[in-house]
Amino acid sequence: MIFKSNTMNLHIKSAVGYLTFKKLEEYKFIRHAFSTRLGGISKNEYKSMNLRMKCNDQYENIIENYKLFCKATNIDFNSLTFTSQTHSNNVRLITLKDVGVGIHKPQDMDNVDALITNEKGITLVTFHADCIPIFVVDPVNRAIGLAHSGWRGTSSKITENLLKIMKIKYSSLPENLICCIGPGIGKSCFETDLQVIEELKKSNISYQNKYIQEKPNNRFLVDLPGLNKQILLDSGVNGSNISVSDLCTKCSNDLLFSYRQTGDKRGTMAAMLRLC
Ligand SMILES: [Zn+2]
Repeated sequence: MIFKSNTMNLHIKSAVGYLTFKKLEEYKFIRHAFSTRLGGISKNEYKSMNLRMKCNDQYENIIENYKLFCKATNIDFNSLTFTSQTHSNNVRLITLKDVGVGIHKPQDMDNVDALITNEKGITLVTFHADCIPIFVVDPVNRAIGLAHSGWRGTSSKITENLLKIMKIKYSSLPENLICCIGPGIGKSCFETDLQVIEELKKSNISYQNKYIQEKPNNRFLVDLPGLNKQILLDSGVNGSNISVSDLCTKCSNDLLFSYRQTGDKRGTMAAMLRLC
């Protein structure tokens, strides 16, 4: 496998492979990681670092994968706190009393696709296999947010909601935020039908036509990372504070799981973000 990226670094530690954004590495008050397929113990279609809880993979293997991943990334296993993703645009504020939701204690909320916090000791976790992760860091107020944004989350602007709620709860100003997008399905690989395009257009994202390319037979290519970047720009984030991953999940199947590549026969990656 040849790894090449202008925006991300691949780290291999005890066989566990994880990605970080070059842009976020300079901020020492946070820790972040995006998992890859490398370094887990799951077999067959889940090979090997499967972090997907609800599937036919063995529960013990999934938990061991989490432990291996946390050890390699120096993230406290006990601090993991999960979304309850349904392609909604709902954002949940997490405090220390919520730590462990979804893994160490039962999930207590439905339809949550983004998490925010300003407390240390909490690792926000979202799940991905093509849908786009959005990492948001406020270096002024020391607050963070993490979102899962597929085409539904993009059309309902979960990224805009995340910023609005960070502003209300933590006084986070968009112009101060550092935002990183991806890895997810790239603009050459996300092919959809007209119905998806109609839903996306209802959201009135600026220059939206720039991110949609028409193909023959009513098919379209959609640039989801680009649309999410545009939502951030529309919300007041500085372009120089946004980094977009150049890795496509579908094109990097030896490194990343992809729904579009293998359908439901696959594991899932996790994005993690915490204050330290
Ligand atoms: Zn691709």
